[in-house]
Amino acid sequence: MSTLRAAGLVTLVLAALLGSAYALGRSLVPEQEHNAGVKASVNSPHYADQPPSQDFPGPPRHSPSPSPSASTPASDDGDGPYGSRTSTGSSRVALTFDDGPDPRYTPQVLALLKEYGVKATFCVVGENAESHPNLIQAIVADGHTLCNHSWNHDVNLGKRSPDAIRADLLRTSDAIRAAVPGARIGYFRQPGGAWTRPVVSTCEELGMTPLHWAVDPADWTVPGAANIASTVMTQTGPGSIVLLHDAGGDRSGTVEALRHLLPELLDRYQLEALPVDAT
Ligand SMILES: [Zn+2]
Repeated sequence: MSTLRAAGLVTLVLAALLGSAYALGRSLVPEQEHNAGVKASVNSPHYADQPPSQDFPGPPRHSPSPSPSASTPASDDGDGPYGSRTSTGSSRVALTFDDGPDPRYTPQVLALLKEYGVKATFCVVGENAESHPNLIQAIVADGHTLCNHSWNHDVNLGKRSPDAIRADLLRTSDAIRAAVPGARIGYFRQPGGAWTRPVVSTCEELGMTPLHWAVDPADWTVPGAANIASTVMTQTGPGSIVLLHDAGGDRSGTVEALRHLLPELLDRYQLEALPVDAT
C-alpha cells in the first residue's frame, strides 16, 4: 500500500515537473501556433537562437516577444520563417482570426468587430468554409479580408510534395470561392506556423502572401480572457500582426478578451484588415 502511495506521489511530482516544463516551453516560444494535436512545440521545443531545422523552422527569426518599444515596423517582406510576413508594413495593427469559420464563435467575433468598426483578416480552413459558406459570405460582406489556412489544418503540409501542397491550397481557395465567387484571397497561413520553403513557394506561385504573426497570446490553450487580453496589449506594437482563433475549441475566452481589447487597441492604434493586393 505504501509502495503504491509512493508511486502515486512520484507520478504527481513528475506530472507537475512536466507541466512546468511545458509552461516554460510555451513562454519561450510564444509564436508556436496551435498544432492540431501534433504538439511540435512540446515535443521538440524551438528557441529563437536555434537555426531553422531542416523540416520546420520553428519560431520566426525575430525576437519571440516583440516589445512595444520596438516600434519600427518590420519591412514589408516578412521577417518570419522563410520570409513570411509578421508586420503590416505600416504603423497599423492587424487582427487575424484562425481556424474558422465556426458557427458558434465567428458570428460573435463579427458582431464585436462591427460594433467597433474594425476590419480584420480571417484565416479560414477549407473544410469549414465548405460547411459554412454563409459565414464566409458574412465575413466578406462585413469588409474583412481572407486568408487560406489549408484544407483541414494540416501542420505537416509543408513536408508534402509541391503537387500535394498546391492541390490542398487550391481546394481550399475553391471552397472559399464556392461561397463567394471571385473572392480575393491575398494570404496563406501555414497551420502551426510550420513553414517550409516548398509551402512558401507554392503559396506565392498561387498569388498569396505567406502570413505569419508577431503576437500570439496562445488563446487556443484557453488561458482565460484576462490573460489573452493582457498578452496582446503587452506585446502589440505598431505594425503587429496579432494571432487569435475564432474556432477549433471553446473560444468564449477569445470573444470576451476581444470585447476588452478592441476599445483599448483603438485607443492606441489604427486597426486594419490586411489588404488583398499586398503581393
Ligand atoms: Zn490554425
